[in-house]
Amino acid sequence: LLAADGTIAATIFAEMSALAARTGAINLGQGFPDEDGPAEVLEAARQAIADGVNQYPPGIGMPVLREAIAAHQRRFYGIDVDAASEVLVTAGATEALAATILALVDVGDEVVTFEPYYDAYAALIARAGGVHRTVPLRFPDWRPDLDELEAAVTDRTRIILVNSPHNPTGAVLDADVLASIVRLAGRHDAIIVTDEVYEHLTFGAPHTPIASLPGARERTISISSGGKTFSTTGWKIGWITAPAALVTSVLAVKQYLTFVNGAPFQPAIATGLGLPDAVFADAAATLRDKRDLLAAGLEAAGFTVSLPDAGYFVVADAAPLGYSDGAVLCRELPERAGVVGVPVSAFVHPDRQDAYRSLVRFAFCKRHDVLEEASARLSRLT
Ligand code: PMP
Ligand code: GLN
Repeated sequence: LLAADGTIAATIFAEMSALAARTGAINLGQGFPDEDGPAEVLEAARQAIADGVNQYPPGIGMPVLREAIAAHQRRFYGIDVDAASEVLVTAGATEALAATILALVDVGDEVVTFEPYYDAYAALIARAGGVHRTVPLRFPDWRPDLDELEAAVTDRTRIILVNSPHNPTGAVLDADVLASIVRLAGRHDAIIVTDEVYEHLTFGAPHTPIASLPGARERTISISSGGKTFSTTGWKIGWITAPAALVTSVLAVKQYLTFVNGAPFQPAIATGLGLPDAVFADAAATLRDKRDLLAAGLEAAGFTVSLPDAGYFVVADAAPLGYSDGAVLCRELPERAGVVGVPVSAFVHPDRQDAYRSLVRFAFCKRHDVLEEASARLSRLT
């Protein structure tokens, strides 16, 4: 995380977006959509500004949004949460993760994640003085080995940090893996923190929140965000749902991170969460077409592709094209093909790169014409 001179390195997403801006390449690096989400959501934000919802909201979040989050958990998953005490609004899922980890992890506490992992996890665990233990997911099916999972979780484990659907792989954890996590957390008295920001962007079976499993809810902090579901990644409205005592602990940290955020966007995301089921299904179906388009383009170009079950990203192996190092390829890709991707190595600890070295993550949350042009450019890559 720290460069040799002590400065904090820019995230891979900032670096690759800057590279795309500098070279004019198509940016399939950082995951953000290039089209706006539901008109009702955008209009609700404009209306809230016009109505004067422009000052600090309550620290725990505006009642209208907390109630909409609770109603969403009940409607989609049958989970009952108390809007008054079991929901906390945050500045995106990022702040939810930061406040949760800083609240719960003491120096030396262990946090177990799968690997590859979303980059913020490692940075936040390190900031808190925690010890990061990982369980590998392997290309191309990404299914964790249950014995490796069991070995990673011990009485030193404070948090099992789950991310399903998963970034960068697009994998969805199977029911037996989720059940193992709940069993291990119970056995070792660990807290489950689950990052479910891609909950509605699934291409097969609907998402199963781990909190809906027997024995999970009382020890689980569930994290999500409006950014992916409503294509509003810049609004940074996220949330946690958790037992009241855990919400109180996380809020204690959150109040000194951002205090509060996004007043007019809170009722707008509440509007989004109340939209009909078809809106959620359409968002997933549209994205599934985009996945298929880019995956076909990558395969035609000679990559080996792991078809994702959810999310914004597809992981492709560049080894069949003769590229053994994805990080090197990603630095050259704007010049060679006019496209930007992110090396999967950015989501893996420096000591464990070998199995991931030739893999590149491409975002497909883009317009069809953009994905077609990117595919055409990649087909000329030699
Ligand atoms: N977790 C995962 C797995 C993500 O992919 C992202 C963002 N792409 C976040 C958290 C951060 O979400 P937010 O923008 O709501 O902070
Ligand atoms: N989560 C997004 C991604 O994986 C980017 C978020 C960020 O730039 N930190 O691309």
